[in-house]
Amino acid sequence: MAKNVQAIRGMHDILPSQTPLWQLLEDRVRDVLERYGYQEIRMPLVEQTELFKRSIGEVTDIVEKEMYTFEDRNGDSLTLRPEGTASCVRAGIENGLLYNQLQRLWYQGPMFRHERPQKGRYRQFQQIGVETFGMAGPDIDLELILITHRIWQALGLSDGLELQINSLGTADERLAYREILVEYLSSNLDQLDEDSRRRLDGNPLRILDSKNPDMRELIAAAPTLMDHLGDESRAHFDVICAGLEATGVDYVINPRLVRGLDYYARTVFEWVTDRLGAQGTVCAGGRYDGLVEQLGGHATTAVGFAMGVERLVALLEETNIEPEAQVDAYLVLMGDEPQRQGLLLAEKLRDQLPDLRLITHCGGGGFKSQFKKADRSGARYALILGDDELEKGIVSVKNLREQAEQQEIALDQLAEFFKK
Ligand code: ATP
Ligand code: MG
Repeated sequence: MAKNVQAIRGMHDILPSQTPLWQLLEDRVRDVLERYGYQEIRMPLVEQTELFKRSIGEVTDIVEKEMYTFEDRNGDSLTLRPEGTASCVRAGIENGLLYNQLQRLWYQGPMFRHERPQKGRYRQFQQIGVETFGMAGPDIDLELILITHRIWQALGLSDGLELQINSLGTADERLAYREILVEYLSSNLDQLDEDSRRRLDGNPLRILDSKNPDMRELIAAAPTLMDHLGDESRAHFDVICAGLEATGVDYVINPRLVRGLDYYARTVFEWVTDRLGAQGTVCAGGRYDGLVEQLGGHATTAVGFAMGVERLVALLEETNIEPEAQVDAYLVLMGDEPQRQGLLLAEKLRDQLPDLRLITHCGGGGFKSQFKKADRSGARYALILGDDELEKGIVSVKNLREQAEQQEIALDQLAEFFKK
């Protein structure tokens, strides 16, 4: 036998047994987003490498070590998108969606990062993301958080998800704080790990995001940006907190929350759970007012978030949420003439009942084996059409999920039967 070709490590098939739960999640998220007036945008999976270097930042985990970068046949450096925000901004600028406009956009799709695969961390993973443009005030930051909160409610995940928020201030405020932080870290150089020492010059704020347990104490005692915010940033943040209190959304202020990307300013937030081990962040977002201009557009304020669908599905699997059955009926066909007539019957039923999910048996075989397939399909009813039934002008109907007598339904009554 030929040797199997395997999927790439960290890139998973989502099998037919799993897709109903994925679809349930996607449907409910889309529903909430539509209720807030968000429009879908679809971007390519591949972009010029430069786009991510210029947006995410050179001294970040993603750009330093996680990108799938390759040379195109004509020598251009391309990258499989590691996230959606940069692509969305690129698309917005390129298509004139951002200048002097308000936009509320969302997207969904795979992202690629060359990380060490483990539970909740994959090399191809799915995000649903939201990006808004042209709104400078805290009202839109608040709206985004309320949307995520409503999504957890729609999915029955509210319990056990904690909202953490922080403000990163403006670029100037960060610059001033950066000096204070570098001074603190430099005076504790012996406690910094290798990664952090390297970041001390390039991106010291990222040191606060370190997951190294040896540095936990050092980080906990560091001066916080929250204590060095300017008045406007402070006011912006306070409005969000007040809005969350008014709408009854619990939150904690986490002054260590800095996010792993360079483009954030002011508001950042994450939804975190302790039920997924180390991979506890299921949704993360924030304001990125400088990014559009940084990528060549007119200065445009922006806020967004992205959620990790695999992690949310893992949480959903622990709940008792049940996706709806996918099949209503399975048509068992015994004999040549029933096979011919059954096809016509099935098509007629589909004309009459647009919502009916009906599998017509194909491939022949005996009654027992067809019936087994009907059961395995998950269908609620088996419809049986043989020569006897044809002669009598009926279909035998067997409820596969409940104890009940097999019924005979006249062919012209079948549509009525399913309407009920
Ligand atoms: P983490 O701290 O877990 O590495 P991140 O800060 O790199 O996350 P973001 O870039 O903010 O993640 O992406 C938003 C969300 O996408 C995350 O909160 C997470 O739920 C999900 N996510 C990120 N990377 C992965 C991955 N490799 N596998 C699965 N989900 C991921
Ligand atoms: Mg990461």
